[in-house]
Amino acid sequence: MLKTFPIGGIHPPENKISRECRIETMPVPASVTIPLSQHIGAPAEPVVTKGDRVLTGQLIGRGNGFVSSNVHSSVTGIVTAVDTYLDGSGNRKRGITIQAEEVDEWAVGIDNSPEVVHTCDLSPREIISKVADAGVVGMGGATFPTHVKMTVPDGRKVDTLIINGVECEPYLTDDYRVMIERGEEMLIGAWIIAKAIGVQRIIIGIEANKPEAVERLAALAGGVAAGIEVTPLRVRYPQGSEKHLIAALTSRQVPSGGLPVDVGVIVQNVGTALAVYEAVQKNKPLIERVVTVTGHSLPRQANVSVRIGTSVSELLEYCGGLPDDTGKVIAGGPMMGKAMSNLDTPVIKGLSAVLVMPQQESLRRVEQPCIRCAKCVSVCPMGLEPYLISRLSRRAVWDEAEIHNITDCIECGSCSWQCPSSIPLLDFIRIGKSEVLKLRRSRK
Ligand code: SF4
Ligand code: SF4
Repeated sequence: MLKTFPIGGIHPPENKISRECRIETMPVPASVTIPLSQHIGAPAEPVVTKGDRVLTGQLIGRGNGFVSSNVHSSVTGIVTAVDTYLDGSGNRKRGITIQAEEVDEWAVGIDNSPEVVHTCDLSPREIISKVADAGVVGMGGATFPTHVKMTVPDGRKVDTLIINGVECEPYLTDDYRVMIERGEEMLIGAWIIAKAIGVQRIIIGIEANKPEAVERLAALAGGVAAGIEVTPLRVRYPQGSEKHLIAALTSRQVPSGGLPVDVGVIVQNVGTALAVYEAVQKNKPLIERVVTVTGHSLPRQANVSVRIGTSVSELLEYCGGLPDDTGKVIAGGPMMGKAMSNLDTPVIKGLSAVLVMPQQESLRRVEQPCIRCAKCVSVCPMGLEPYLISRLSRRAVWDEAEIHNITDCIECGSCSWQCPSSIPLLDFIRIGKSEVLKLRRSRK
């Protein structure tokens, strides 16, 4: 029997309609805007000014402190602004705009050739330093700086590295294509991470609806390193959540409010493992990523390697343009992604997909009264009572919501998806979580 996590979960329609689309490289855009904050932690500080000429891969923003991340130019050209821009939600953020030249001249020392480099003689400290220099962050959407995650806190012992190849969100196929087309480099990246954190055991978790990826990586693993296990998992959302993946693969439970390192595990996404390979073996900073562009109404599906800072509207144009009946464009998947109100915003390191939904599919159903069916409870993978914490949040009873562990919610959306009364449970839970976290901060 295939492994999976112990409680809750759903199986929404997979809709992996772009899975057979090979990764294609979008031409370098005429200009890019590189956000200074594409990660959790302090925004980077600009190290260039208007009028400077920069090369592809050159540092333009330096991480400000340990929990921060460097940003690099994704084109060769002239800095035209160090200013603010509007993000996908319409909020003002700081970024650096660069007008690209015809040439694409890479900064000295970066190897942009496809040749695969297998050996790595660097020490753990040197590896982590290169990962930090290259501005690698978690590419599954969390965008936590990878060098921080690779630094095991004093007194903690890690024995297992899990590589997250689950991709349980409907529609998303960027990780799948990376595993199929760049599996060897990704595995070398995983081995390098394991070397840096000092573990022998590497488990690649992949849902069983991707048998080609399981076979491909299993065939490659032995040639990269001993001790790499490729494990198929039962198809079940939200298995890609760190806590649930750890439970599925190791039967270890991360405690409430705890971290994977508390149970001796570090989890990295497949895209992040590939970025680590490029940072360490090729000196290549994180300046491009694979984005799935998908939706049933789109003229074509695609998995596109795109330079960071390219506008989402240009990426959509490249894939045939937005259909007239578009009702919603989502950054990420339909379960955990965010609806975008501004498409003239740049592609960032954490953007896994752009999902286009037609008007008909975008409309919310009319909310009905709760019928106390408890379906939301049975699907909650955190063992919460979504109907209750949502109601407490709606009534602004924050202390009660805290007692009922609202902050344990991982915002997977399974409860809202399952509710027969179409109650937007997660919307209210999100508000409640944020209020309870504010309360906790004020107590300190
Ligand atoms: S309460 Fe949170 S964790 Fe539980 S199903 Fe709803 S969104 Fe997911
Ligand atoms: S699933 Fe919806 S209707 Fe059923 S108990 Fe939960 S909130 Fe109420």
